[in-house]
Amino acid sequence: MDTLKNKTAIVTGASSGIGAAIAEHLANEGANVVLAARRKEELSTIVETINSKNKGKAIAVVTDVSKQSEVDELSAKAVEAFGEVDIYVNNAGLMLMSVIQNGHVHEWDSMIDVNIKGVLYGVNSVLPRMVERSKGHIVNISSVAGHEVSKVNAVYSATKFAVRALSMGLEKELARTGVRVTNISPGAVDTDLATHGTDESLKQKAQSSDRKRLESADIARAVVYAVTQPDYVNVNEVTVRPV
Ligand code: NDP
Repeated sequence: MDTLKNKTAIVTGASSGIGAAIAEHLANEGANVVLAARRKEELSTIVETINSKNKGKAIAVVTDVSKQSEVDELSAKAVEAFGEVDIYVNNAGLMLMSVIQNGHVHEWDSMIDVNIKGVLYGVNSVLPRMVERSKGHIVNISSVAGHEVSKVNAVYSATKFAVRALSMGLEKELARTGVRVTNISPGAVDTDLATHGTDESLKQKAQSSDRKRLESADIARAVVYAVTQPDYVNVNEVTVRPV
């Protein structure tokens, strides 16, 4: 299908997991994709795969989304390469599980910087032009942890509640501009997300569940669904959980 032919999408956190799958699925629909994350080699491998298999073209821009200047540079490079940015997927995220009593302040700071500020910087880098053009689509990846809170993940949950709040506020703010906003809330997906914290027992617990998890492609299809609707259709919230 060529439903996204001549469109350009930026996908953050595209060096692994859900972001890599979103970039591949959007390119498979014909979109040109700009993959952003910090790990250069991983990005290059995914870009090569997309360029060899998919219809849309892919480039990588090494970006730390917690740095506003790098996010601005990312969007500028996307415009330089492909002309306009039609879709911006705020997918980059960190989940560093811990109980608040253990005081992992640096991990809280990292999650707030990437999961909240990174999303705002991304929106800020493309929104003025989207409003000017009266079109564009912001897709924010929140989580079911943005709807419910567990006893070992309150700070991560707080950041994902924040992502949903930003999506809901933006959707209202932009309602008459032609710019669409979609919030996607995945349940457990089989990725490396739970491996990055420093609390070994919680990491092991999170990974030892025998419950069948979603695959990254399941979330990528939800993104494709939202961004391929007719212009007058605004898919605001999609929640996808394993059965
Ligand atoms: P991964 O750990 O595989 O992917 C996380 C991505 O975020 C990586 O590409 C990583 O790239 C990127 N990232 C982290 N920090 C930064 C940064 N400072 N700047 C730029 N990129 C960054 O996990 P997932 O694919 O699972 O996570 C993707 C999103 O999905 C996250 O927002 C997560 O919260 C959300 N989610 C995941 C669920 C799950 O069960 N897996 C459930 C619900 C939501 P790099 O390290 O190269 O910078």
